[in-house]
Amino acid sequence: TLPILIHTYLYRKAVAKELPTLLLLGPSGAGKSALLTLFANGTASATHTSQEPQTATCQIPVSTRASEDRYRSENDTSARTQPKFRLIDTPGHGKLRHHATSTLTSAPALKGLLFMVDSAAVSSASGLTEAAEYLHDILLLLQRRHTQGQTSKTPQAIPVLVLANKQDVFTSLPASIVKTKLEEEIAKVRQTRSKGLLDSGIGMEGEGADEEGNWLGEFGAEQFRFAQMQEHGVEVDVVGGNVKGEGEEGGRVDGWWEWVGENL
Ligand code: GDP
Repeated sequence: TLPILIHTYLYRKAVAKELPTLLLLGPSGAGKSALLTLFANGTASATHTSQEPQTATCQIPVSTRASEDRYRSENDTSARTQPKFRLIDTPGHGKLRHHATSTLTSAPALKGLLFMVDSAAVSSASGLTEAAEYLHDILLLLQRRHTQGQTSKTPQAIPVLVLANKQDVFTSLPASIVKTKLEEEIAKVRQTRSKGLLDSGIGMEGEGADEEGNWLGEFGAEQFRFAQMQEHGVEVDVVGGNVKGEGEEGGRVDGWWEWVGENL
């Protein structure tokens, strides 16, 4: 039995190391640190600005059904273990974004991305542009990863949840409007970026070779829709909520937990 025990031990150890991972991204001030604290501890206590990625081990609350529970019988009384996952919070400041992109390409067992926006900040032109540029670049990375995966060992599809945070704030836009605003703005970013590429001659080697590889979503389309990403193996959902809230009510994060439960 000793070899079996050793085998079991090594297997358990390997599994423990490879907790499914979710990556948390977004402009600074969106509420990422607050969410990390809430997901890890159950309360959104004071946050500080961090210069390094922060990692927390989180567990889905009992109130959220995990995807593996979906086929459980109502009469199944065996103890359910709520799945655990690793959440990596990356600094949103422009100069520090290489952390986000390197984690994106190197994190093992990456299951999804949480892209957080401040739903009040995206009602201003500059706030919207900042969020849309960042999201555009992240989605393009995922699209490229998918394209490259078709020739090598296919990396699994990586879904994206856009968290329209701060819904408790009076000036916040509802999640459905956050979604369309981001889509419209990403269309502009895409146009600008492709023009920049044409002007600079980048990607023009051999009959405009990589023009298509640098274009997000449906090639040549005037409008951008998140649904266009499905063809590139990227499912995008936009769900509203708030990490913090007035009085006893506190935050409203059920919709986000639900997405996490379904995608782990
Ligand atoms: P990060 O830069 O994305 O990590 O953002 P932080 O987590 O540091 O949050 C930025 C500020 O927004 C902090 O003062 C938070 O308390 C505040 N904040 C975060 N989430 C919410 C929310 O849902 N509602 C409100 N009103 N404030 C929030």
